[in-house]
Amino acid sequence: MDFEFNEDQRAIQDLVRRVANEKVAPRANEIDATAEYPQDMFDLLKELGLFTLPFPEKYGGMEDSISCCIAIEELGRVCYNTAYLLLVQWLPFGAILAGGSDAQKDKYLPGLASGDLRGAFSTTEPQSGSDVAGIKTRAVRTGDGYVINGAKIWCTNAEKADFILVAAKVGEGKGTSSINMFIIDRDTPGFEVGKKEDKMGARGVPSNALFLSDVYVPESARLGPEGKGFKIVMEAFNKSRPYIGARAVGLSQGAIDHTKAFIKERKAFGQSVSDFQGVRWMIADMETKTEASRLMVYKAAAMVNAGIRGNELASMAAMSKLFATDTAMDVAENAVQLFGAAGISSEYPIGRYFRDAKVLKIVEGTNQIQRNIIGKLAFAD
Ligand SMILES: Cc1cc2nc3c(=O)[nH]c(=O)nc-3n(C[C@H](O)[C@H](O)[C@H](O)COP(=O)(O)OP(=O)(O)OC[C@H]3O[C@@H](n4cnc5c(N)ncnc54)[C@H](O)[C@@H]3O)c2cc1C
Repeated sequence: MDFEFNEDQRAIQDLVRRVANEKVAPRANEIDATAEYPQDMFDLLKELGLFTLPFPEKYGGMEDSISCCIAIEELGRVCYNTAYLLLVQWLPFGAILAGGSDAQKDKYLPGLASGDLRGAFSTTEPQSGSDVAGIKTRAVRTGDGYVINGAKIWCTNAEKADFILVAAKVGEGKGTSSINMFIIDRDTPGFEVGKKEDKMGARGVPSNALFLSDVYVPESARLGPEGKGFKIVMEAFNKSRPYIGARAVGLSQGAIDHTKAFIKERKAFGQSVSDFQGVRWMIADMETKTEASRLMVYKAAAMVNAGIRGNELASMAAMSKLFATDTAMDVAENAVQLFGAAGISSEYPIGRYFRDAKVLKIVEGTNQIQRNIIGKLAFAD
């Protein structure tokens, strides 16, 4: 087993770490405080060509999951929201690459790779999040297409997206077999982006409601064969789940970096707080769990690169998301504790890490749902 990054991966790590420290870190608090979309950060990622990383060579990319995790980890170390910009771009990409027709790939993938197009992804509805089979949005067949009606919530990037992948049921089938994904361009009549959530974390990238009122789409807007859309997307998500884990690893490492700097300077009982053995044990646990998360996340990414799929990848991807995001919450909580009252003040960045960590345990399948996946696969033949 090789634990070393190759030359290209090291070059990406050096570049993104430098840019993160010089250009992204100084903006991170402001993005969180104002909850304004960081267009300057999007432009920076675009200029650096980072959106291309997971794309096949044909679209100018490296198709390297490990490089993707490196970029997300380095950005996530200083700014959750900037790391999120990469991820939000890569979720619709993965789904279209996995199940899109040639025409859909030609229309959307080059623009997503370059950053000239932005996408979003929407399954969640007011009455059903984890229970995707409970969605009520319906697509009714007309002669040459579908008419879609329904309402969605929590669609991240909807405000900025040129197109959105929307889940809708066709027919009355139970479970997820009737769920289809439709690629809906933002300017389609009847399609409206609604209220923006006022969020506790992940504040820089907006999440909105969507309203679909008699939205007509041609059959060519459906992803994959009828009834297969959801399965295609879930399999694509197994490949992108390590990125969520990478964001958690970056968050944990960033929280540790800030904490070590703070407790070295902070004095109590005539010595630096960092010199108390009880405090060092806390740091030791934070470092150990973060490193364990890192190993899991990069193993899952290496499995994606090696072409491993099915239950083996699904289980590892879920375990890495679960462990890395539980760790991020744990690390961020201890980080705030070590800051003392300063951890509660918005003058210091650490509260932002704490709030963003909580989001990670809920998005892309809550951590209970990850446990359900792992538990189910543990008994699969
Ligand atoms: C910042 C943010 C961004 C988001 N972006 C998007 C997006 O871009 N697109 C999109 O479609 N959605 C998005 N979501 C929604 C997200 O996917 C859902 O919030 C998530 O799937 C959970 O659904 P829910 O909130 O309806 O909770 P529920 O499903 O109602 O769950 C409530 C609680 O019950 C638990 N629970 C539910 N079922 C089980 C079970 N079987 N076993 C054990 N526990 C269970 C859950 O884990 C949770 O703790 C976003 C959410 C957030 C917070």
